[in-house]
This record gives sequence, C-alpha cells and structure tokens, in this order.
Amino acid sequence: MPAMPTCCGRSTTAPPGDAPRREAAGFLTSELLMAIRHDTGIVLRTYPLGEADRIVVLLSPHQGKVRAVAKGIRKTKSRFGGRLEPFTHVELVLYEGRNLDTVTQVEVVEAFPRLRGDLDRVAAASTMLEAADAVAQEDQASVALFDLLASGLRVLDVRPASPDLVTAFLLQLAGVLGLAPALDVCASCGRSDRLERFSFAAGGSVCSTCRPEGSVRLRPGVTTHLARLASSEFAVMAGEPDEHSAEAMGIARRFVEYHLDRRLVSLAAIDP
Ligand SMILES: [Zn+2]
Repeated sequence: MPAMPTCCGRSTTAPPGDAPRREAAGFLTSELLMAIRHDTGIVLRTYPLGEADRIVVLLSPHQGKVRAVAKGIRKTKSRFGGRLEPFTHVELVLYEGRNLDTVTQVEVVEAFPRLRGDLDRVAAASTMLEAADAVAQEDQASVALFDLLASGLRVLDVRPASPDLVTAFLLQLAGVLGLAPALDVCASCGRSDRLERFSFAAGGSVCSTCRPEGSVRLRPGVTTHLARLASSEFAVMAGEPDEHSAEAMGIARRFVEYHLDRRLVSLAAIDP
C-alpha cells in the first residue's frame, strides 16, 4: 500500500514490486492523497496561467523562492480576492503537486497599505522585490533575505521613500549573499586611507595607488556614506537625502548589477 501522506511531507510511493496496485491507486495518490503544507512568504510577482489561474512567486524564509498555482484567481469572484498581490506578506496552505504546489488558503499577515498608495514607495518596493527575486533560490532557506525584504517593506509602509533606503537595501542584500563591498579598506591592498575610487570587479573601495582598471572616482564623502548605509538599520535611518545620496545609489546599483550580471529594471524609475 502506498504510505499515507503526512501533514508536512510529500507522500511516499509504494515499494518497487507493487507496480499494478500503485497504478490502480494512481488517481488517489495524485488527487486525494496529496500532502498539505503550510508556508509563509512575501509575494514577489504573479503571472497568468491558462484562462483563470495565476502562478504566484513568493519569497519564503524556509523554502526560498516558491512558485504556486492560485486557481481561479483571475475570475471576478475569486476567493483569494487581492490577497496574492505583490508586496503582500501571507500565510499559505498549499497542496503539494508533482511540479507546482496549489494554494488552497491565504491569510494576510502584512498588507502594507500605505506603501501601495504612493508611487515613489511602490517604485522603491518594486526594486527591493526585483532584487530579492533575482537572488532567491528555490528550496534554499534564506531567513536573512526574507527579513531584509520584510524590514524594507515595513519602513516603506510608514515613511516616504528615500534613495538612501534603496541604497542601504542593495548594499545589505549584497551582504546577505556574502558579497558585501569593502568600504573601509582598499579592496585590492587593504590600506584604509585615500579610498578615492570604487571598483565593481575588485569588490568595493580602492585606493588611488591601486586604481584598478574600470574603477571610478568617487567624490569625497561618498565612501563613508556607503559604509554608513551598509550597516544602518532601515528603521532608524535619516530619510532626507544629502549631497552624496544620488552618487551612492548609482554605485550600489552598478555594484549589485555587476555581481548579479543583470539590470534591475525597476530602478530606472528611481535612478534613471
Ligand atoms: Zn589599494
């Protein structure tokens, strides 16, 4: 007999010598004996599937990137309502499928309603989602990445968007990936003075003696500004940009894009 599924694991198949019975019970294993599991996540994006369904892509702290089918969500009277829109932090009950899980229940944990009503905040939050989406892996837990995204969205729900917040998010995202840029020593020689340049390939600030090929010159104060944002808690950061903010964002953006090897399209709305 096929083993019964448990509440949090996939059902196991019948032992090898039991093929005819396994086939006879095929519809049962696929339709009725599917395992149910619970998960939590932030909706990163959705895309249409067939006439009425959507695939929902979420970032889960325990499972990394999760793709699940929300059946009937594009019908006017969908039981999911607007609960599976991007940015929403949800608790889910899922049926495990062979390839894709199916969402059966959704509860909103955090909806971030004020964030959604402001175009600048939506642009900043979209950049955070896009960057998290670019680095999250399926079946790979990342509590740190989830916490970083959740805290970014929480701040955007209570404060206006600021370029420094997006810059801090990108720098700290790099840190979660183990790619934190060197900002208080030269990435090439390790000295801590004359950090006048930045090298995307070398991995951070570089001194005027090393000045590797492709490094760019920074105005005085930008390296210190970047270092401060890389270690700031979002909730206690000053919201007002200063004269270093725009240049710092450009550096953080190019740094992350260089190491991810892709453009962050959402950033064009903030940093054209
Ligand atoms: Zn150096």
